[in-house]
Amino acid sequence: AGGDHAVPAQARHRWSELVELVQADQFAYYVRDAPTVSDAEYDARMRELEALEAAHHGLRTPDSPTQRVGGTFSTEFRSVDHVERMLSLDNAFSAEDIAAWADRVHRDLDQDALVHYLCELKIDGLAIALLYERGRLVRAATRGDGRTGEDVTLNVRTISTIPDVLGGDPATHPERIEVRGEVFLPVEAFVRLNAAQVEAGRSPFANPRNAAAGSLRQKDPKVTASRPLRMYAHGIGALQWAGEPLADVTRQSQVYELLASWGVPVSGHSRVVEGLAGVQEMIAYYGEHRHDVEHEIDGIVVKVDEIALQGRLGATSRAPRWAIAYKYPPEEVNTRLLDVVVGV
Ligand code: NAD
Repeated sequence: AGGDHAVPAQARHRWSELVELVQADQFAYYVRDAPTVSDAEYDARMRELEALEAAHHGLRTPDSPTQRVGGTFSTEFRSVDHVERMLSLDNAFSAEDIAAWADRVHRDLDQDALVHYLCELKIDGLAIALLYERGRLVRAATRGDGRTGEDVTLNVRTISTIPDVLGGDPATHPERIEVRGEVFLPVEAFVRLNAAQVEAGRSPFANPRNAAAGSLRQKDPKVTASRPLRMYAHGIGALQWAGEPLADVTRQSQVYELLASWGVPVSGHSRVVEGLAGVQEMIAYYGEHRHDVEHEIDGIVVKVDEIALQGRLGATSRAPRWAIAYKYPPEEVNTRLLDVVVGV
């Protein structure tokens, strides 16, 4: 594959068409909280784009949707720059994709020994960055395009389980820490909210993810306060210790323990496993039990647990190399939700 001239007109045409579709999908999803196509259809468009770019490298420009964090931000909110960029995740759709990712991890690390993987549920909500300075929440922002997000501090302050002031041992509080997590609406709350929407003559939300995003991204924080939103932390961004860093925190799973000790909610479903077999077990288990969880999930996120190894693996322009999101096949119809919406 060569430069611009080597790309056949037909491929270029299809590429432009797909870019336009994907951009429109992203606007509907991230700004209006009202997607016009299913996630599976969106993923298929992105995969077709990637395949086109793999066949014709001239199409893979830095501003292609395949090279960027997908979101955008609305002018309805004050925009804020993240201290550290918020990335997306690469996707895997099969056991083979996961195995190929793990092979790469071993190759890049030049390591034969088993790697510790932190397996987590992929919560279908929206990403949030919580900035704490000397133990106090000073700012909350959506992901936006990864560099710039929307200031939703007032709305986040209405979520009762997100601490305004960190608890635990103040001696362990950093000077500054960006806690990243997922804001979601539990399935039960979603069902109740939609029933109330219908009763009030308003249209119901398409799914808990859009209901959560629509509830958080409100001009009036009172509306947000009336919605039982929750949050689980799933990572950290910028981190500055006041003195010496805590020596015993060398793994992401230990970061979660620390966050929990401060009263920051973390998921009880995460597991640390050694090697790929444990990863595949987690994927199989929640494939069977995905509706037994308090929130919707669309997959399993697998992360290299050792923070030093994460640093060695680094990131691309849109996603870390030390993590991957396995996505479950789409469900035809979510009957449990549908039943409630139509009142069966
Ligand atoms: P993504 O949702 O596939 O993965 C990245 C995100 O996962 C992170 O930003 C984080 O917020 C979230 N996440 C949830 N649980 C996590 C955990 N335990 N650890 C780490 N991160 C966790 O990627 P994306 O770029 O945010 O969005 C792309 C996806 O969004 C698509 O695959 C599709 O499902 C959906 N989408 C749909 C439409 C549509 O029109 N239907 C449009 C745009 C995006």
